[in-house]
Amino acid sequence: MFWRKKREKDKKKEADAFGFTSQEERFKALESLTFAASLAHANLPAYARTTPSNLLIQILCKGQCNSERWARLNKPHPGKSDLKNAKKGEYRATCLKCGYVAVDNHNWHRQVSEARALQALKSEIAGMPQKYSAGAVTFGAGASKAQEQIPTICAVIDDAINALETGLDTHNLPIKKSQIADGLKRLVAATRQPAFIGLVSTALTPTGVSELERYMNELEQIANKIL
Ligand SMILES: [Zn+2]
Repeated sequence: MFWRKKREKDKKKEADAFGFTSQEERFKALESLTFAASLAHANLPAYARTTPSNLLIQILCKGQCNSERWARLNKPHPGKSDLKNAKKGEYRATCLKCGYVAVDNHNWHRQVSEARALQALKSEIAGMPQKYSAGAVTFGAGASKAQEQIPTICAVIDDAINALETGLDTHNLPIKKSQIADGLKRLVAATRQPAFIGLVSTALTPTGVSELERYMNELEQIANKIL
């Protein structure tokens, strides 16, 4: 009884810290935010870093550069095959170095592999317990369960990286890319449950909890790119 009361009090305290009246409201507000930062940015040259990840594409610049360059799409990347098959002229890519506009969409690509993006994201998430530990002493079975959540998320991402690189699942059976993407999306969905948020709130600071939600949004973006 006491613990339930305490938990409710903690939840309210945490919600207050965010300026929202309920977990659900906070959750909705966070979800509605767009996060331009993509993992891919970690590997990008400086000239391409301020462009939103969904507009980034690599072209062979036939302008002043005459080399491979990152370019900005006129509208968001629709997925690999749709971009390749789009009618000439529907997509235009402007070289971020010299401004040359390319229309040969069947030649464009993105070098940053999903596996690399996942690896970078996982390193960020793995560091969260140190960076955002709630610090306060927590009691009971719930506390250790809460602390297991970050390592569990990292393990699932590791499995996905492995599957992307080998084409095999954890039982060494063939796995399709769409299945890997679905697995990651299920993970993201699970972390958006109020019960999950309540649980990690006992292990991470409010900032840590919102960072985790941001990382999960990034994970969703990466999963959506796995085709
Ligand atoms: Zn150029």
